Amino acid sequence: MKLQPSFSSYDHSFHICFSFAAIFSLTTVAVAIYLLKLKRRWCNCKICHGYLTSSWTEEFQNLCDWYAYLLQKSPTKTIHIHILNNVITANPENVEYMLKTKFDNYPKGKQFSVILGDLLGLGIFNVDGELWRFQRKMASLVLDSLSVRSYTFEVVAEEINRRLVPLLSSVAGKVDCVLDLQARAYLA
Ligand SMILES: [Zn+2]
Repeated sequence: MKLQPSFSSYDHSFHICFSFAAIFSLTTVAVAIYLLKLKRRWCNCKICHGYLTSSWTEEFQNLCDWYAYLLQKSPTKTIHIHILNNVITANPENVEYMLKTKFDNYPKGKQFSVILGDLLGLGIFNVDGELWRFQRKMASLVLDSLSVRSYTFEVVAEEINRRLVPLLSSVAGKVDCVLDLQARAYLA
């Protein structure tokens, strides 16, 4: 009979501690979310603002055109979309650093692989490390074969003779004529 109050007291203390821990955890999460929101609100740079309000659509038809414009204007040919935590670069030195010099420091990562897993599986565009290296070697052997190079030469020669030469001939001699080859490529 004497033990009963002590058990009850222990349960009560445990309950208080558990409640305190739960409240503390919830408060911490709430504060973290609030700070993250504040941080986002604080970032009012032109790019983030344009992204959040979609104001870029007033001047550009798609996101790629807007990014290309921003990259052209950037002295380093690199932009940082803070709210997405993304860095986009068109600087050849950065590209070489990421794709060659320190290639292993820039894996696609698990998040990327999971998102594209259903589409790309364990193919070369969705894996890192040894699996990537092996497929890269295989692809290199296939693409470097004489039959592939010969076929590529045939296709390119055909495209030049059948489409590019007639297109260039159609504007030859015209003054102040601007020919958008990229737009033509999409239309044809
Ligand atoms: Zn920003």
